[in-house]
Amino acid sequence: MTASSTTQVQRVEILAEAGRRRTFAVISHPDAGKSTLTEALALHAHVISEAGAVHGKAGRRGVTSDWMEMERTRGISITSAALQFAYGDTVINLLDTPGHADFSEDTYRVLSAVDSAVMLLDAAKGLEPQTLKLFDVCRYRGIPVITFINKWDRPGREALELCDELTQRIGLQPMPLTWPVGVAGHLRGVLDVPSGDFIRYQHTAGGATVAPEERLTPQQAAADLGDEWAQAVEEAELLRASGGEFEVARFFDATATPVLFGAAVRNFGVRHLLDLLVELAPRPTPRTDTDGATRALDSPFSAFVFKVQTGMDPAHRDQVAFARVCSGVFERGMVVTNASTGKPFATKYVQQVFGQQRSTLDTAFPGDVIGLVNATALRVGDTLYTGKPPVRFPGLPSFAPAHFAVARPADLGRAKQFRKGVEQLGAEGVVQVLRSDRRGDAAPVLAAVGPMQFEVAAHRMATEFTSPIRLEPLPYHAVRRLADPAQRSIVDAGRRSEVLTRLDGAELALFAEEMDLRILLRAHPGLVLESLVAEG
Ligand code: GDP
Repeated sequence: MTASSTTQVQRVEILAEAGRRRTFAVISHPDAGKSTLTEALALHAHVISEAGAVHGKAGRRGVTSDWMEMERTRGISITSAALQFAYGDTVINLLDTPGHADFSEDTYRVLSAVDSAVMLLDAAKGLEPQTLKLFDVCRYRGIPVITFINKWDRPGREALELCDELTQRIGLQPMPLTWPVGVAGHLRGVLDVPSGDFIRYQHTAGGATVAPEERLTPQQAAADLGDEWAQAVEEAELLRASGGEFEVARFFDATATPVLFGAAVRNFGVRHLLDLLVELAPRPTPRTDTDGATRALDSPFSAFVFKVQTGMDPAHRDQVAFARVCSGVFERGMVVTNASTGKPFATKYVQQVFGQQRSTLDTAFPGDVIGLVNATALRVGDTLYTGKPPVRFPGLPSFAPAHFAVARPADLGRAKQFRKGVEQLGAEGVVQVLRSDRRGDAAPVLAAVGPMQFEVAAHRMATEFTSPIRLEPLPYHAVRRLADPAQRSIVDAGRRSEVLTRLDGAELALFAEEMDLRILLRAHPGLVLESLVAEG
């Protein structure tokens, strides 16, 4: 289909299909239960008939995503980037945020492709470091967040205390939509806050099937549960009275978060979450282009690449580019234009799945994720489109790196390949590339959000650019952007700090520890350092 052939009927269909989409990601700290929840969601949507296979992590290989594991064990339709399933009339796109060892810029970039996020907390732990980092990105991008407090089937902290933590630590007003009845470890069910009813959960063997629910009126619940019910009602009321009454506008402007309690492993609270996504989570909205204009959902096809995955196997130089559809309909075989190069790109090979059960994707609508196979010309941040006028969406932001290492060619005879490779990896956003006068061009500094990015960079340098590298870690743990280049010498004079220039021209001030930064700021009150959660 070309631009000119987008008929009124097709436009209506595109808008209807976009309206059915809910595209979100789960943000959490490792072990909070993301894979368990993902599986529970799929179970509730009847994508799979029984849960349990991926709960045990034994045998999982290093970087293999949980979902690829699920794909193997269940044969359900997933990519390493997105899981798509229907829930009633709604199409759910759950984008994977790789965690664990492969926490990297990719993890953050996924958040540029979602319309909302589910913040998954462990009831015994509350907000944990990785959750906080990902939440910062959600806040920066204004992404509405739903909070799911998990593992309520076992002893943990108090519900009020966990809610208080949201307000105190991240300034997010909790708006509970359910409230646990019975302390953590003895979850009887939840108070359904909007209706005031009690939802009782029934246990199923090993939590393997959808947990049946029973609904009781408040009177029945009071008679049945006595004090436990009274306490839940009182606590929920306390929170409501202190600003926790649900208001959809506050969810949308990301100042408040609907809160649900549950236990993914037992499938408790999972239906509530799905219903909340269907009823309240934002649908795809028109995306703003680099000129500040919005591209209507029913415009011709457009998408942006948010993740590029290169095969780690040198025998197969496969590369899959994952793009989120922003407007129009995508049809397999369509020739699209890459806005960065102006060149056409044939989408003959578009897959939803890679692995054993490849299924070829034929159509996709706004909110969906497409995986373009052998897309060696595509880079993270690229815009793809059809028709006229051309469109280009803003590039993806880069994030505050936390790991730094000097790169040198292992073989000095390959300096040219080395330079070319480093430049390329920087352009692709595999790692950030920084330069310093002190070390010169022959020894650039690579910077990454997660150490896994270094492994990918080293691997590609050796295989693709035939210039193996040596990496020498640098002892920096804090980074800021230097607002005024004239102040560079102040930072450079520090014993445990220096300024490096990133390829995009940003001057990054690196410090061994946060403490060094504070000492320098005290000595030079005029020094302006900006934090860099994300910049674009
Ligand atoms: P991920 O690292 O966030 O993907 O976490 P997993 O889904 O692999 O879960 C980590 C561990 O927590 C596993 O042993 C799960 O069985 C367990 N777990 C997940 N959800 C729950 C829950 O609701 N209750 C309890 N008791 N354990 C859970």
